[in-house]
Amino acid sequence: MNTIRNFNSTGWIELITGCMFAGKTEEFIKRIHRHKFAKNKTIVFKPLIDTRYSEKHIISHSGAKLECINVENSHKILDYYHKTVKKEPVKVVGIDEVQFLDEGIVDVIEMLANQGVIVIVNGLDKDFRSNPFKNVDKLLSSAEVVDKLLAVCFQCGADANRTQRIVNGVPAKSDEPTILISGNEKYEARCRKCYIRPE
Ligand SMILES: [Zn+2]
Repeated sequence: MNTIRNFNSTGWIELITGCMFAGKTEEFIKRIHRHKFAKNKTIVFKPLIDTRYSEKHIISHSGAKLECINVENSHKILDYYHKTVKKEPVKVVGIDEVQFLDEGIVDVIEMLANQGVIVIVNGLDKDFRSNPFKNVDKLLSSAEVVDKLLAVCFQCGADANRTQRIVNGVPAKSDEPTILISGNEKYEARCRKCYIRPE
């Protein structure tokens, strides 16, 4: 990871991205913990849509755990930040699963960084059709630091940067919803060669 020295209260944006099973959540939790060790005031948010594991925690596949605040939209993040900052300075804001938030989040992140906050953002860069995911597409250009992590292809073991959605054992069709948390689908990390573009 590239590091940026923190002169006075310069803010910046760090984006952790890639496909599923690349270890993004693990990296996100690790990076937030570094700031907690240093006693930097840190607030972590995740969209309310993602309740797969725990409502008040972000949990990685390997079991690392981080307390967070569930929010319905980007305004709630701004409100919470303003309320907290009246009591004490906030040094770090973490945002998980940024692709599930409304598009207003990009401006909120910019504003926080402009105010001197280190904003650590985690999100998928592509949906199951391999199209760019909203919010992450814009953050890829505005972030000071981008770490694009690779997974291992479930089919052949090569480096993988695509997410294949599988429903009833076959690749999902392209007209399925972009965001789907039904429990019937499963996902695989796949390389360029093994990924099947949905029809
Ligand atoms: Zn492969």
